[in-house]
Amino acid sequence: MKNILITGGAGFIGSHVVRLFVNNYPNYRIVNLDNLTYAGNLENLLDIQDAQNYKFVKGDICDEKFVSELFEAYKFDSVIHLAAESHVDRSISDPMAFIKANVFGTVNLLNVSKEFWKGDFENKLFYHISTDEVYGSLDDGGFFLESTPYDPKSPYSASKASSDHFMRAYGNTYNFPFIISNCSNNYGPNQFPEKLIPLFIQNIIDKKPLPVYGKGENIRDWLFVVDHARAIDVIFHKGKQRDTYNIGGFNEWKNLDLIKLLCKIMDEKLSRNHGDSEKLISYVTDRAGHDLRYAIDSTKLSSELGWKPSLQFEEGLEKTVEWYLSNNEWLSHIASGSYQNHSY
Ligand code: NAD
Repeated sequence: MKNILITGGAGFIGSHVVRLFVNNYPNYRIVNLDNLTYAGNLENLLDIQDAQNYKFVKGDICDEKFVSELFEAYKFDSVIHLAAESHVDRSISDPMAFIKANVFGTVNLLNVSKEFWKGDFENKLFYHISTDEVYGSLDDGGFFLESTPYDPKSPYSASKASSDHFMRAYGNTYNFPFIISNCSNNYGPNQFPEKLIPLFIQNIIDKKPLPVYGKGENIRDWLFVVDHARAIDVIFHKGKQRDTYNIGGFNEWKNLDLIKLLCKIMDEKLSRNHGDSEKLISYVTDRAGHDLRYAIDSTKLSSELGWKPSLQFEEGLEKTVEWYLSNNEWLSHIASGSYQNHSY
């Protein structure tokens, strides 16, 4: 029996992690704490919302009293922390929101866990989900390793880097039991349609322009969200405490190539003429301080813990397109705002 607090479980990756843990571990009690920002959507979890071992709680990770009471009520022995502000463009226009949720919120959770566990860290774990963006931009080749020095370049990545530093500082200062994983860009079902792949799927459906930053030359390393959730499962159960694991699928794509592949799949799925969707591409002013290339080396995770991605990118992208096309309601509820009225 484990009592696990998962934060940010109504979001994109969090909902896949919650589903995997609720379905695979019926003897674990999973509490999903999420304050349902614009990115939180309980429609992501309709299939498991009534499961015996699952409970949703609406609340803010920054609220010390509320989080302390939750620990008292559910006696958590583990935390899987995903709650965060996650969109780089929003961090450029409103950095303070990112400092609040990603830095203050994370440290608040750390403090409450530390106080509740009172120095007895046996069978306790605080697992922090982070990003490869903390390592900066790989303009001259190579890969991000777990030992790559931090060099965050956007307010988002700086806030995530800061929260990672607090993890290690608590480990060093209080012997606090933590693990960090840093993952590459995720894609898949349930991603909020402000991020590249779902935004472009939506725009292609609606025959709207596809706004490509700069010349579309930025390179990202893409991983199917379910493979990220599987990696989190493996690291949670088999990872070494006070250690870090990079997660990625050695799957680098130049933005423009990815967009052209997406256009081709969409033309086929929507029975449109080949080339129709590509005509929607429109180049826009580049994002300020846009990192050129991310590429993660996840050899440690595969060699030490045996994890490997289950899908090739073309297959994953096709599955993703199929999901959005057959979940029109999910998209239309976001467009109308009604997804925020879901009862809990
Ligand atoms: P998301 O924006 O889809 O979801 C974030 C969730 O956190 C939302 O449900 C939101 O309501 C919740 N939240 C935000 N602030 C909160 C607060 N103060 N209190 C409680 N809940 C709050 O994000 P995502 O893409 O699913 O990312 C999840 C985590 O994974 C983040 O920590 C992110 O940094 C990390 N990550 C994301 C990616 C990616 O490609 N999306 C890659 C690597 C790491």
